[in-house]
Amino acid sequence: MPYTTYLVEKGASHSFVAEAKPPTVTMPRIKALMTGSLPGFIDVVRNLNSPALLEDNVITQAKAAGKRMIFYGDETWVKLFPQHFVEYDGTTSFFVSDYTEVDDNVTRHLDKVLKRGDWDVLILHYLGLDHIGHISGPSSPLIGHKLSEMDSILMKIHTSLLSEERENLSPNLLVLCGDHGMSETGSHGASSMEEVNTPLILISSAFERKPGDIRRPKHVQQTDLAATLAIGLGLPIPENSVGSLLFPSIEGRPVREQLRFLHLNAVQLSKLLQENVPSYKKGSNPAPAQHPASTEQQG
Ligand SMILES: [Zn+2]
Repeated sequence: MPYTTYLVEKGASHSFVAEAKPPTVTMPRIKALMTGSLPGFIDVVRNLNSPALLEDNVITQAKAAGKRMIFYGDETWVKLFPQHFVEYDGTTSFFVSDYTEVDDNVTRHLDKVLKRGDWDVLILHYLGLDHIGHISGPSSPLIGHKLSEMDSILMKIHTSLLSEERENLSPNLLVLCGDHGMSETGSHGASSMEEVNTPLILISSAFERKPGDIRRPKHVQQTDLAATLAIGLGLPIPENSVGSLLFPSIEGRPVREQLRFLHLNAVQLSKLLQENVPSYKKGSNPAPAQHPASTEQQG
């Protein structure tokens, strides 16, 4: 993925290895990404017939804040968030033998949607790479081609966001991640290192990176994304989120603002502790958090 590699090494980006908790299957992992909490193993059973997500999450908060969201890809998202997207096209992951059409069904919308200025959040969930894993494993000759297809899609989106920013002068955030990894045999669901380790790359011209500042990707939790997205979009952190704001994403902000963001996360976590751990005592109640107005972000 040469373009992605370029962004990771030289661009305004922050890379992480995000640990997904088992079961490493799609529905509970999307829930973890959007709620920041850890659903139980019961979700494996429900994975094939996902009910709407009722727990507090970033998508519901974004909708309540009037954000316009568009979704294309794995239909699990549409099942979890049936009323949330102003436009969507869900793809079934049932036909695992197909790794071309599932992705073309997502990409076919791209040129049009990127030209439109009427959305705040665009979510794409590609399935092809996962399906290739199931068919012929992580060393399949099909993998390289699929990764280069994904790389060119990332380039298309990034280039479009940059040119949009030149007009609107407001930075976007592009998040590249996987819901789960892939075992040596190309499957997933369990807890091997290959299944739980996923890439998480945050790309935004709001990030300041000095040239040559190459860092080894830090290990974080998949559940850290919810708090980070909430802060980035100016939304309340989902109430059951156990995640920590990914600090590199705010380190370019003024110190006062950084402290404000960390305070929001701390207040939310402490409330969660007080409600769930009877033995947890705190000297005084934290001051109610007010969220600062933050810049509109897309992607
Ligand atoms: Zn799969």
